[in-house]
Amino acid sequence: MNRLPGRLVLLGQPVSHSLSPRFQNAALRAAGIPLVYEALDVAPHALASTLASLARDDASGNVTIPHKEAVAGLCARRSPLADRCGAVNTFWHENGALIGDNTDVGGVDAITGALLGETRSSARVALLGAGGSAAAVLAAAERWGSARVRLYNRNMERAHTLASRFADSVEVVSSVDDALDGATLVVNATPVGLHDDDFPVAVARLPKGAAVFDLVYRTGETAWVRAARNAGHRAADGEGMLVEQGALSFKLWFGIEPDRNAMWSALHN
Ligand code: NAP
Repeated sequence: MNRLPGRLVLLGQPVSHSLSPRFQNAALRAAGIPLVYEALDVAPHALASTLASLARDDASGNVTIPHKEAVAGLCARRSPLADRCGAVNTFWHENGALIGDNTDVGGVDAITGALLGETRSSARVALLGAGGSAAAVLAAAERWGSARVRLYNRNMERAHTLASRFADSVEVVSSVDDALDGATLVVNATPVGLHDDDFPVAVARLPKGAAVFDLVYRTGETAWVRAARNAGHRAADGEGMLVEQGALSFKLWFGIEPDRNAMWSALHN
């Protein structure tokens, strides 16, 4: 096992509803690691001073909304994937220097691999949204062989800005229907469905046989995932990605695999 950090934290705002402490603390207990994963509510103006204090504590941790891009800019060194996403969700310190990585991409890989199997390498992806999590989907998809993405976002300028960084594998389209045309995987990377039962796309408009991946997660799955599955589509919400990105972070911090069953149990008991 790697040398233990002085603290293990989640940086976000707000963090009160985050599920990460539940499953990370379960993984720590299962591994017998004497640390407690703490969620820290950090306002953007306090991010730099918080990171300076965490460096003195030799802390490791995760980063969530709205700090992923800012932390990427403050790292002394980033992994190639964190560079590709322009975002850091996992950090640690080496000789006092802040090092950043991105395990959201691995989380996307795990769920899409389970949904699509070998067909993923030639997937036709309809991606809705152009924020931080959409960047992780694009960074994942460009490594899937000949997969191609059609990106739709209500703010077209933002879609073009993001797509310009992934020009070889992404085409920006001007309607949801254009994105859906021929898609074998439909991905929701917007917050639609997070606080209510709204659907990012009506289930009747999903291409026949397309798999559905909703990055949003809610207790008992999102309404969209339940409805898509009832209509015969393979479908997964964001909970699996959340646990998997956390498991990959754990491996980076400690050099050992976490007990994923303990992580899942902590969420569902
Ligand atoms: P973000 O950077 O704020 O981007 C949000 C995107 O959604 C933007 O493209 C925005 O479009 C679009 N959007 C917002 N409200 C919308 C609406 N009502 N209708 C249509 N489009 C809308 O957020 P993010 O970090 O990418 O996260 C997006 C969602 O993914 C989060 O709500 C979270 O639930 C989920 N997520 C899950 C995981 C996981 O591990 N499962 C990880 C990260 C995120 P505009 O550009 O037009 O504003």
